Amino acid sequence: MIQYDKKQKILIADDEPLNIAVVADILSCEYDLLVATNGEKVIQIVCSDQKPDLILLDIMMPGMNGFDVAKWVKQNSDTAHIPIIFLTAKHDNESVVKGFELGAVDFVSKPFNKEELLARLKNTLQMFSLRNALNRALDKSQQYAKTIESQMKLIDKNIIISSTDLEGNIIEVSDAFCQISGHKKEYLLGKNHRIMRHPEVRPPFFVKMWETIVRGDTWHGEIRNRSKKGETYWLDTVIYPISNDIGEKIGYTAISHNITNKKRVEELSITDILTQLHNRMYLENSFMREIKRSKRYNHPFAVIMLDIDYFKTVNDTYGHDVGDNVLVMIGKLLSENIRETDILGRWGGEEFLIICPHTTDEEAFVLAEKIRKTIESYPFDIVGQKTCSFGISVFDLKDVGYKEVVKRSDEALYKAKENGRNCVVDYNVTFSSP
Ligand code: GH3
Ligand code: MG
Ligand code: MG
Repeated sequence: MIQYDKKQKILIADDEPLNIAVVADILSCEYDLLVATNGEKVIQIVCSDQKPDLILLDIMMPGMNGFDVAKWVKQNSDTAHIPIIFLTAKHDNESVVKGFELGAVDFVSKPFNKEELLARLKNTLQMFSLRNALNRALDKSQQYAKTIESQMKLIDKNIIISSTDLEGNIIEVSDAFCQISGHKKEYLLGKNHRIMRHPEVRPPFFVKMWETIVRGDTWHGEIRNRSKKGETYWLDTVIYPISNDIGEKIGYTAISHNITNKKRVEELSITDILTQLHNRMYLENSFMREIKRSKRYNHPFAVIMLDIDYFKTVNDTYGHDVGDNVLVMIGKLLSENIRETDILGRWGGEEFLIICPHTTDEEAFVLAEKIRKTIESYPFDIVGQKTCSFGISVFDLKDVGYKEVVKRSDEALYKAKENGRNCVVDYNVTFSSP
């Protein structure tokens, strides 16, 4: 910024005091003046707090001459910005060229014209004020650029961001995205975002997500992904459309944070440690959801409860570890034989429970029979054959909660044990018939 409020300071350097007096007379009303009668004195002044805004410099001086002084001033980073005008009788071509080479901005020949001197001074000072202001602005914008660059680096390193075109092909990813997905940026660019999908996430999840973003709305949700190494990671993600300068939608940007640890804790709290099936807490919560749905749509849902026959004998004969392995294996056989929509879990001890949404007791009976036969014919390590007994009941719209339907399934199971085990009993058939 040019300062008009403060007088600018001119340093007049000449070995002839009379010359100084003439110049000072012309300049004193417009400028503050400093004087030096030799080159050494000039250096002393420009190095002090009294830095001039411009130096009017004589060339021929004893000791350090004007060229020596100009060279020194221009080579010193603290003084290099000070403009120098040579004020001299020596104005042969060679001197002029040398002066400009050493960094002079102008020459004024002695004897000089008063108006010319004032005009050249004014021009030079204005030009340098502007140049200095420009340099300061440039410095500031470079500082801003540096700050933005370091902030961008922080974002890149710590925030999981990806951008895709309208088809989901990746056009940009952050370092944090590469880190969590395990893929290199060069590999990801151009690939479709679906390569991150976890195979267990059902297609309807993505259909809904795409419906939302294609509409132009923002999507927010938790996504289960799979890394290059095959590990599961969870992201809490917001996806929003991106547009070009004229407002046309050109793609999508997703900003996520890693919620894998939170999800692990959540999963642990609903997972049975031994069998890795859902635990009782999860089943109880699932009952609440199913009851709501059943009441709303007037759909029945069935409950199959099963219990391993003579399991105590396994522990007693082969030890607890062998018993544990049988429990794990039965859990596996069950999960392999139920339908996608069925909800399976370990109810307790050696009892399992399956909630079958949208299912009648006849349909549940067919499923239970299939499972019963599978278990009966499975050759278990060490123990050989094992069987299970099954009790089935259906949620009645008159039921208040899940306890009634579980109690009826339990009664049917008890009946199956009474009937000789390794069989399926349907509560409705056994207890409702005359
Ligand atoms: P039933 O045919 O009448 O069901 O006879 P059962 O022996 O299976 O029934 P009982 O209720 O007498 O015994 C169940 C056994 O299951 C007793 C218990 O030690 C065992 N059990 C429960 N939970 C576990 C477990 O996590 N691991 C092992 N190894 N055994 C378990
Ligand atoms: Mg048992
Ligand atoms: Mg039992």
